[in-house]
Amino acid sequence: MAASRKLASLRLPPLPTVGELIKLYNLRAEKQLSQNFLLDLRLTDKIVRQAGSLRDAYVCEVGPGPGGLTRSILNAGVADLLVVEKDTRFIPGLKLLSEAAPGRLRIVHGDILTYRMDRGFPVNISKPWQEDPPNLHIIGNLPFNVSTPLIIKWLENVANKSGPFAYGRTRLTLTFQKEVAERLTASTGSKQRSRLSIMAQYLCTVHNCFTIPGRAFIPKPEVDVGVVHFSPLVQPQIQQPFKLVEKVVRNIFQFRRKHCHKGVEKLFPEVCRVELTQEMMQKADVDPTLRPTELTIPQFRALADAYAHLCTQEPGLLSYEFREELRLKHLARQRNTPTGTFIGA
Ligand code: SAM
Repeated sequence: MAASRKLASLRLPPLPTVGELIKLYNLRAEKQLSQNFLLDLRLTDKIVRQAGSLRDAYVCEVGPGPGGLTRSILNAGVADLLVVEKDTRFIPGLKLLSEAAPGRLRIVHGDILTYRMDRGFPVNISKPWQEDPPNLHIIGNLPFNVSTPLIIKWLENVANKSGPFAYGRTRLTLTFQKEVAERLTASTGSKQRSRLSIMAQYLCTVHNCFTIPGRAFIPKPEVDVGVVHFSPLVQPQIQQPFKLVEKVVRNIFQFRRKHCHKGVEKLFPEVCRVELTQEMMQKADVDPTLRPTELTIPQFRALADAYAHLCTQEPGLLSYEFREELRLKHLARQRNTPTGTFIGA
């Protein structure tokens, strides 16, 4: 009873609607910043519910824009909401919301790709990695143009327990273009299985919560949108450095319809390609005729472990990039000079 009274007292007082604010401040959507607004508060409430209970939580919202999702987060009873918005035009509307929720909404005018979230919240909300997650969430109706680089950056942060994950296993509830949401959550053998599926799923439990039709946004984007929830695993399924895993997965998926050994080959310079590919596939005990989409995460783990082992034996291998070798060959051909051997093999 007392708890529900407290939650009621945290609900926002009557305010102009988000639509009225957009008109009031003349907030035309900017295509360049991937601005597609959600004005239906039932939908924004539904996104917020996917995060779980937000009572007394600390939350960072990415790109609050005119503040629809922001209202839903505040109404869920959060203790502290930090919003990071790149477009100055939204700041006055957000200040209005901040006045309606005294002491609970902090506004940062900045770029989420460079914002230091590890400094954004009090240290005492941190939880050791092995324990329950901290009461800290990241929520956002992400701009399409930053959603993939942002999730890759945050996955690397999960691997290194840095950025938002310096506080522990911070959970994320984010929107993506529907096809990207499907890739993030695709299981072994599915058509959508891709580099993103492996990178997300070896580090997190990833759940595709629901799809929002494009027509729910203003202006309507060309695509539908998926809401995805990420919860970092206590123990990553692959225990190698993020950059190494990323390199193995990227190379294997570059020929997604071919047998997986085709991509593995490209991890090695031409001079030792055949021999080291064979050694890596044998050591990992993976059938070289499987397609990249058919490989399980344990098989990617075995491949990453085998590659890491070869890298310890062959200095310079880790920094070898097939595309760089191609580029150098191309340059050499243009200058009509022979290429050197790439690594110190
Ligand atoms: N949250 C609002 C909603 O649901 O209606 C707006 C969502 S809109 C898809 C994306 C928002 O992110 C816009 O407000 C845009 O200005 C902002 N944005 C775009 N790039 C950004 C960046 N790099 N850092 C922070 N905000 C960004």
